[in-house]
Amino acid sequence: MIVLTLNCGSSTVKYKLIDTETQNNLAMGKADRVGMMGAVIDVERPGGEKIVRETELLDHAMAISAIIHLLVEPQLGILKSLNEIQAIGHRVVHGGETFTGSVRITDAVVQTLKDNIQLAPLHNPPNIVGIEAAMAILPDVPMVGVFDTAFHTTMPEHAYIYPIPYALYKKYAIRRYGFHGTSHFYVARRACEILKVKGSETNLITLHLGNGASATAVRKGKSVDTTMGFTPLEGLVMGTRCGDIDPAIIIHIMDQEKISVREANNLLNKFSGLIGISGKSSDMRDLEDLYQQGDKQARLAIDIYTYRIKKYIGAYAAALGQLDCVVFTAGIGENSPLIREKSIEGLDRLGIKLDKKRNDGLRAKEAVISTDDSPVKVLVVPTNEELVIAMDTAEIVSGQKSS
Ligand code: ADP
Repeated sequence: MIVLTLNCGSSTVKYKLIDTETQNNLAMGKADRVGMMGAVIDVERPGGEKIVRETELLDHAMAISAIIHLLVEPQLGILKSLNEIQAIGHRVVHGGETFTGSVRITDAVVQTLKDNIQLAPLHNPPNIVGIEAAMAILPDVPMVGVFDTAFHTTMPEHAYIYPIPYALYKKYAIRRYGFHGTSHFYVARRACEILKVKGSETNLITLHLGNGASATAVRKGKSVDTTMGFTPLEGLVMGTRCGDIDPAIIIHIMDQEKISVREANNLLNKFSGLIGISGKSSDMRDLEDLYQQGDKQARLAIDIYTYRIKKYIGAYAAALGQLDCVVFTAGIGENSPLIREKSIEGLDRLGIKLDKKRNDGLRAKEAVISTDDSPVKVLVVPTNEELVIAMDTAEIVSGQKSS
């Protein structure tokens, strides 16, 4: 089945066209600066050149329409007609407590997503806009929603309930949800395939380290704890998000600086984490360059970043009881030997032994980077959330999987 996956952010629409029979990418790209001046759309075929075009994209509907029409341009030779797109899979950030798995999109599902907007005010609105735009442009094409939170719905109560008045959970559904679920699911399953072990018998810690970052404890194929919480702000240090801090700090800063809720939200989401500590960049490549040049703040940012990861590896090793595998993924996890090494150095007594030679220079490739005698295997697995979205979409649309 040919499935188009769409991932709508506030000003971007990322897409991939996937043949689920062969699991091959047919095309991928993104519409950027949607609703702004200087919008661009690009398309790339595997092994081919990236084509970038400036265009006017006033809203997500225009962006999705432009993507779909690009895919059928005769000179690009990707698709002959729109009829070849058999289904669309949408990435949806927050499924709340309602969606524990992927779901066929109907008007009722869209309404439930709208009802849940207050749980993810930054992320779900563009997802919903994207769904409605795609439904308007291709009304006869079946669509499926795949949720970032779904993989984590197996967490036990003691991992997802916060120690605040329980009535607030009942009233506002304030609990840990966790995000990046599709990525954690994919790399956990793929790591087991690479190691030729059964997922149902294996315990892993998966580390998704991109601009956003999270760690998940996976017991026998199921998420049992994860570092992101009610929102994607909790847990590890991220590019611009603070991760775990003492909640009283927020109250103190708001009081001292006389800032509003909105400003406090921006401070923690956009000006904290790596950019906040280094004062220079949220991008790990820049920080690594600065670190090599001896920049003190960049070193501190990297030290805090990797120390936090190490602490969670320890915590999740304890939560799991027995640990078999640690997996690194996403932009930083896949590409940074330095961050991988600093995150697990000194953990030999936990059975985690890095093979420096295997780790050094390894970028964007599946590989085992632990020593042969390491009781806990350490792997790098490039993530592929779109493949999971496409496969789930095909299974639900063809009736092989119920939604
Ligand atoms: P997103 O969460 O936006 O999908 P990515 O998964 O693409 O982000 O990760 C982006 C991060 O990956 C950035 O901090 C970037 O610097 C980092 N990154 C990409 N390539 C490298 C590299 N070669 N070395 C270190 N960090 C890298």
